[in-house]
Amino acid sequence: MKIDIEPGSGFCFGVENAVNIAEESLSEGEKVYCLGEIVHNDIEVNRLKDLGLVTISYEEFTGLKDCKVLVRAHGEPPTTYETARKNNITIIDATCPIVHSLQDKIKRALALARLENGQIAIFGKEGHAEVIGLLGAANGLGILITRVEDLDKIDFTKPVWLFSQTTKSTAEYNHISEVIEQRLRANRSKWPGNHLKVHNTICRQVSGREPKLKVFVRTHDVIIFVSGRKSSNGKMLYDVCLAENRRSYFISSADEINPLWFSGAESIGVCGATSTPRWLIRQIAEEINMICQKHGI
Ligand code: SF4
Repeated sequence: MKIDIEPGSGFCFGVENAVNIAEESLSEGEKVYCLGEIVHNDIEVNRLKDLGLVTISYEEFTGLKDCKVLVRAHGEPPTTYETARKNNITIIDATCPIVHSLQDKIKRALALARLENGQIAIFGKEGHAEVIGLLGAANGLGILITRVEDLDKIDFTKPVWLFSQTTKSTAEYNHISEVIEQRLRANRSKWPGNHLKVHNTICRQVSGREPKLKVFVRTHDVIIFVSGRKSSNGKMLYDVCLAENRRSYFISSADEINPLWFSGAESIGVCGATSTPRWLIRQIAEEINMICQKHGI
């Protein structure tokens, strides 16, 4: 059996950076809390827990004082930093620089939107940590768009500044922006100021992977996609795999592998989300190899 790992699989640099910062902080011997799970991958979360990283909820965070709290790659809204200031909490900021810059863009657009009586629309997943941070950057005035039906929340007589969560699908984002433009255009003769400014804020580490992933998926008989179930990037990239190859299977750990999946296959491709550590993908590939040998596949 030919078993290949997709070259682009493994942590994106933002997650890698956050994990490195966590490991560095823990090596100093002090207690470090992490606000929410550092990455949407239980196996990696448990590895860092064993090193001493304590994951806390927002409720627990508000009750803490005089300690160190790590902000993960997804970033946080300004209210988190205010709470930290009040409670003498030292923030170890591992916000991905790309998310940081997106938050800054939203803040600048908000200033313009206020001048022109416009709106900030954010395409993202409801409740996702990054989206909470982005809505916070919009000072609570952002309109969350999770699907086309949500576009009814926009006033199409006014200008719109559109942003996307960094890990959304480019195709879906393009579709959302096209529908907004159509609806604005339909009102433009009466409301000529209702322009649309689309900010291309999907992370290239994600969008750049899609075309390469598609080629990889097409050139293997069976695809094993490894990701935590809470990862929105994992869900999006798995959908890309499934659209290219119906024999694509989503797993979070090696014990979910079913040997029947490999029946009649000559090649297996192993890949994962930007929140899946490369070491786990390698481990899964080795496990598949052992299963194939055991079952004479
Ligand atoms: S996907 Fe991109 S924006 Fe998100 S953490 Fe990774 S590098 Fe940063």
